[in-house]
Amino acid sequence: LQQVSKSYRSGGRDLRVLDDITFSVEAGSTLAIVGPSGSGKTTLLGLCAGLDRSTSGSVELHDTRLDELNEDQLAAVRNRYVGFIFQNFQLLPTLTALENVMVPLELRQEKNIRPRALELLDKVGLADRGHHYPAQLSGGEQQRVSLARAFSNQPRILFADEPTGNLDAETSEKVVKLLFDLNREAGTTLVLVTHDLDLAAKTQRILNMKGGKLISDES
Ligand code: ATP
Repeated sequence: LQQVSKSYRSGGRDLRVLDDITFSVEAGSTLAIVGPSGSGKTTLLGLCAGLDRSTSGSVELHDTRLDELNEDQLAAVRNRYVGFIFQNFQLLPTLTALENVMVPLELRQEKNIRPRALELLDKVGLADRGHHYPAQLSGGEQQRVSLARAFSNQPRILFADEPTGNLDAETSEKVVKLLFDLNREAGTTLVLVTHDLDLAAKTQRILNMKGGKLISDES
Protein backbone atom coordinates (compact mmCIF):
# COMPACT_ATOMS: atom_id res chain seq x y z
CA LEU A 1 0.00 0.00 0.00
CA GLN A 2 1.22 3.48 -0.88
CA GLN A 3 -0.29 6.49 0.90
CA VAL A 4 -3.67 4.85 1.25
CA SER A 5 -6.55 6.77 2.77
CA LYS A 6 -10.18 5.80 3.13
CA SER A 7 -13.13 8.02 4.03
CA TYR A 8 -16.79 7.22 4.50
CA ARG A 9 -19.51 9.78 3.84
CA SER A 10 -21.46 9.86 7.08
CA GLY A 11 -24.07 12.34 8.36
CA GLY A 12 -23.24 14.82 5.58
CA ARG A 13 -19.51 14.85 6.25
CA ASP A 14 -16.45 12.75 5.48
CA LEU A 15 -15.21 10.42 8.15
CA ARG A 16 -11.58 9.50 7.52
CA VAL A 17 -11.01 5.96 8.83
CA LEU A 18 -7.61 5.31 7.24
CA ASP A 19 -5.05 8.05 7.02
CA ASP A 20 -2.00 7.88 4.74
CA ILE A 21 -1.04 4.24 5.23
CA THR A 22 2.10 2.90 3.55
CA PHE A 23 3.55 -0.57 4.07
CA SER A 24 4.38 -3.74 2.21
CA VAL A 25 4.30 -7.38 3.25
CA GLU A 26 6.93 -9.85 2.17
CA ALA A 27 5.55 -12.90 0.33
CA GLY A 28 5.51 -15.98 2.55
CA SER A 29 5.71 -14.00 5.80
CA THR A 30 3.28 -13.66 8.71
CA LEU A 31 1.96 -10.34 9.96
CA ALA A 32 -0.53 -9.22 12.61
CA ILE A 33 -2.44 -5.94 12.67
CA VAL A 34 -3.44 -4.86 16.17
CA GLY A 35 -5.04 -1.76 17.67
CA PRO A 36 -8.10 -0.56 19.54
CA SER A 37 -11.66 -1.13 18.35
CA GLY A 38 -12.56 1.29 15.55
CA SER A 39 -8.93 2.02 14.62
CA GLY A 40 -9.47 0.81 11.04
CA LYS A 41 -8.06 -2.72 11.08
CA THR A 42 -10.96 -4.44 9.29
CA THR A 43 -11.17 -1.63 6.75
CA LEU A 44 -7.44 -1.96 6.05
CA LEU A 45 -7.70 -5.73 5.62
CA GLY A 46 -10.61 -5.33 3.18
CA LEU A 47 -8.58 -2.89 1.06
CA CYS A 48 -5.53 -5.18 0.99
CA ALA A 49 -7.73 -8.10 -0.13
CA GLY A 50 -9.51 -6.16 -2.88
CA LEU A 51 -12.87 -6.43 -1.12
CA ASP A 52 -13.13 -2.68 -0.79
CA ARG A 53 -11.58 0.36 -2.46
CA SER A 54 -9.39 3.13 -1.12
CA THR A 55 -10.39 6.80 -1.46
CA SER A 56 -6.83 7.65 -2.46
CA GLY A 57 -3.46 5.92 -2.75
CA SER A 58 -2.49 2.67 -4.44
CA VAL A 59 -2.87 -0.97 -3.44
CA GLU A 60 -0.75 -3.59 -5.15
CA LEU A 61 -1.08 -7.38 -4.84
CA HIS A 62 1.34 -9.71 -6.65
CA ASP A 63 2.37 -7.00 -9.15
CA THR A 64 -1.24 -5.99 -9.88
CA ARG A 65 -2.56 -2.53 -9.02
CA LEU A 66 -5.93 -3.35 -7.44
CA ASP A 67 -7.08 0.26 -7.50
CA GLU A 68 -6.87 0.28 -11.31
CA LEU A 69 -9.08 -2.78 -11.83
CA ASN A 70 -12.80 -2.93 -12.56
CA GLU A 71 -15.07 -5.12 -10.40
CA ASP A 72 -14.79 -8.22 -12.61
CA GLN A 73 -11.00 -7.99 -12.77
CA LEU A 74 -10.87 -7.49 -9.01
CA ALA A 75 -13.04 -10.58 -8.43
CA ALA A 76 -10.73 -12.58 -10.71
CA VAL A 77 -7.65 -11.53 -8.69
CA ARG A 78 -9.42 -12.46 -5.44
CA ASN A 79 -10.41 -15.89 -6.77
CA ARG A 80 -6.90 -16.49 -8.01
CA TYR A 81 -4.75 -15.29 -5.11
CA VAL A 82 -6.73 -14.39 -2.02
CA GLY A 83 -8.31 -16.25 0.88
CA PHE A 84 -10.35 -14.30 3.40
CA ILE A 85 -11.68 -15.32 6.80
CA PHE A 86 -14.34 -12.91 8.00
CA GLN A 87 -14.94 -11.79 11.57
CA ASN A 88 -18.49 -13.19 11.41
CA PHE A 89 -17.65 -16.18 9.14
CA GLN A 90 -20.05 -15.12 6.33
CA LEU A 91 -21.04 -18.64 5.39
CA LEU A 92 -23.95 -18.86 2.98
CA PRO A 93 -26.90 -19.91 5.19
CA THR A 94 -28.80 -21.83 2.50
CA LEU A 95 -25.82 -24.02 1.60
CA THR A 96 -24.45 -26.94 3.64
CA ALA A 97 -20.93 -26.86 5.10
CA LEU A 98 -19.67 -28.95 2.17
CA GLU A 99 -21.39 -26.73 -0.41
CA ASN A 100 -19.93 -23.61 1.21
CA VAL A 101 -16.44 -25.04 0.76
CA MET A 102 -17.27 -25.99 -2.83
CA VAL A 103 -18.17 -22.41 -3.85
CA PRO A 104 -14.65 -21.09 -4.57
CA LEU A 105 -13.78 -24.30 -6.42
CA GLU A 106 -16.90 -23.90 -8.56
CA LEU A 107 -16.02 -20.27 -9.25
CA ARG A 108 -12.68 -21.45 -10.57
CA GLN A 109 -14.36 -24.23 -12.59
CA GLU A 110 -12.09 -26.82 -11.03
CA LYS A 111 -12.41 -30.60 -11.34
CA ASN A 112 -13.25 -33.13 -8.61
CA ILE A 113 -14.88 -30.40 -6.58
CA ARG A 114 -16.85 -32.56 -4.12
CA PRO A 115 -13.99 -34.88 -3.06
CA ARG A 116 -11.63 -31.94 -2.75
CA ALA A 117 -14.10 -30.02 -0.59
CA LEU A 118 -14.53 -33.12 1.59
CA GLU A 119 -10.76 -33.38 1.94
CA LEU A 120 -10.63 -29.75 3.11
CA LEU A 121 -13.42 -30.33 5.64
CA ASP A 122 -11.49 -33.35 6.88
CA LYS A 123 -8.39 -31.16 7.32
CA VAL A 124 -10.30 -28.89 9.70
CA GLY A 125 -11.79 -31.93 11.52
CA LEU A 126 -15.31 -31.60 10.14
CA ALA A 127 -15.61 -34.44 7.64
CA ASP A 128 -18.73 -35.68 9.45
CA ARG A 129 -20.46 -32.28 9.37
CA GLY A 130 -20.54 -31.73 5.60
CA HIS A 131 -24.33 -32.03 5.36
CA HIS A 132 -25.01 -29.55 8.19
CA TYR A 133 -26.24 -26.05 7.46
CA PRO A 134 -24.39 -23.15 9.17
CA ALA A 135 -27.26 -22.72 11.67
CA GLN A 136 -26.70 -26.34 12.73
CA LEU A 137 -23.02 -25.73 13.53
CA SER A 138 -21.39 -24.19 16.60
CA GLY A 139 -19.46 -20.91 16.24
CA GLY A 140 -16.14 -22.77 16.28
CA GLU A 141 -17.34 -25.24 13.65
CA GLN A 142 -18.56 -22.39 11.43
CA GLN A 143 -15.17 -20.74 11.80
CA ARG A 144 -13.45 -23.96 10.72
CA VAL A 145 -15.76 -24.26 7.67
CA SER A 146 -14.84 -20.69 6.76
CA LEU A 147 -11.18 -21.69 7.09
CA ALA A 148 -11.68 -24.70 4.79
CA ARG A 149 -13.40 -22.40 2.30
CA ALA A 150 -10.59 -19.85 2.49
CA PHE A 151 -7.97 -22.59 1.91
CA SER A 152 -9.83 -24.12 -1.02
CA ASN A 153 -8.42 -21.92 -3.78
CA GLN A 154 -4.90 -22.49 -2.41
CA PRO A 155 -4.46 -18.75 -1.84
CA ARG A 156 -1.07 -17.10 -2.10
CA ILE A 157 -2.17 -14.75 0.66
CA LEU A 158 -4.67 -15.37 3.43
CA PHE A 159 -6.34 -12.51 5.30
CA ALA A 160 -8.01 -13.41 8.58
CA ASP A 161 -10.11 -10.96 10.59
CA GLU A 162 -10.16 -12.01 14.25
CA PRO A 163 -9.77 -15.70 13.36
CA THR A 164 -9.97 -16.74 17.02
CA GLY A 165 -12.32 -14.01 18.23
CA ASN A 166 -15.30 -16.21 19.11
CA LEU A 167 -13.56 -19.46 19.87
CA ASP A 168 -12.83 -21.33 23.10
CA ALA A 169 -9.17 -21.93 23.97
CA GLU A 170 -9.00 -25.44 22.54
CA THR A 171 -10.69 -24.63 19.20
CA SER A 172 -8.67 -21.43 18.98
CA GLU A 173 -5.46 -23.45 19.28
CA LYS A 174 -6.59 -25.77 16.45
CA VAL A 175 -7.45 -22.84 14.19
CA VAL A 176 -4.14 -21.10 14.86
CA LYS A 177 -2.25 -24.30 14.09
CA LEU A 178 -4.12 -24.67 10.77
CA LEU A 179 -3.24 -21.10 9.81
CA PHE A 180 0.45 -21.39 10.63
CA ASP A 181 0.70 -24.88 9.05
CA LEU A 182 -0.60 -23.35 5.83
CA ASN A 183 2.07 -20.67 6.02
CA ARG A 184 4.83 -23.20 6.73
CA GLU A 185 3.76 -25.93 4.31
CA ALA A 186 2.39 -23.95 1.36
CA GLY A 187 4.25 -20.66 1.89
CA THR A 188 0.94 -18.80 2.12
CA THR A 189 1.40 -15.23 3.29
CA LEU A 190 -0.64 -14.73 6.45
CA VAL A 191 -2.12 -11.36 7.45
CA LEU A 192 -4.15 -11.42 10.67
CA VAL A 193 -6.20 -8.82 12.49
CA THR A 194 -6.44 -9.68 16.15
CA HIS A 195 -7.04 -8.38 19.65
CA ASP A 196 -5.18 -11.42 21.00
CA LEU A 197 -1.63 -10.27 21.70
CA ASP A 198 -0.43 -13.86 22.26
CA LEU A 199 -1.57 -14.71 18.74
CA ALA A 200 0.01 -11.52 17.35
CA ALA A 201 3.30 -12.47 19.02
CA LYS A 202 3.39 -15.71 17.00
CA THR A 203 3.71 -13.70 13.75
CA GLN A 204 6.97 -12.27 12.38
CA ARG A 205 5.79 -8.67 12.39
CA ILE A 206 3.18 -6.57 14.20
CA LEU A 207 1.59 -3.38 12.84
CA ASN A 208 -0.13 -1.25 15.44
CA MET A 209 -2.98 1.07 14.41
CA LYS A 210 -4.64 3.95 16.17
CA GLY A 211 -7.24 6.38 14.82
CA GLY A 212 -6.73 5.23 11.23
CA LYS A 213 -2.93 5.64 11.33
CA LEU A 214 -0.10 3.13 11.55
CA ILE A 215 1.67 4.05 14.76
CA SER A 216 4.25 1.27 14.95
CA ASP A 217 5.75 -1.53 12.89
CA GLU A 218 7.73 -4.11 14.88
CA SER A 219 9.54 -7.20 13.62
P1 ATP B 1 -12.87 -3.64 15.66
O1 ATP B 1 -11.59 -4.02 16.38
O2 ATP B 1 -13.93 -3.16 16.60
O3 ATP B 1 -13.35 -4.69 14.70
P2 ATP B 1 -11.57 -2.06 13.56
O4 ATP B 1 -10.27 -1.53 14.01
O5 ATP B 1 -11.55 -3.30 12.69
O6 ATP B 1 -12.53 -2.31 14.80
P3 ATP B 1 -13.07 -0.86 11.39
O7 ATP B 1 -14.16 -1.89 11.36
O8 ATP B 1 -12.08 -0.87 10.30
O9 ATP B 1 -12.32 -0.89 12.80
O10 ATP B 1 -13.78 0.57 11.44
C1 ATP B 1 -13.03 1.78 11.44
C2 ATP B 1 -13.97 2.95 11.51
O11 ATP B 1 -14.70 3.06 10.30
C3 ATP B 1 -15.01 2.84 12.62
O12 ATP B 1 -15.11 4.10 13.26
C4 ATP B 1 -16.30 2.52 11.90
O13 ATP B 1 -17.40 3.06 12.56
C5 ATP B 1 -16.09 3.17 10.54
N1 ATP B 1 -16.78 2.46 9.46
C6 ATP B 1 -16.55 1.17 9.06
N2 ATP B 1 -17.32 0.84 8.02
C7 ATP B 1 -18.09 1.93 7.75
C8 ATP B 1 -19.11 2.23 6.78
N3 ATP B 1 -19.48 1.33 5.87
N4 ATP B 1 -19.65 3.48 6.81
C9 ATP B 1 -19.27 4.40 7.70
N5 ATP B 1 -18.31 4.19 8.65
C10 ATP B 1 -17.73 2.98 8.67
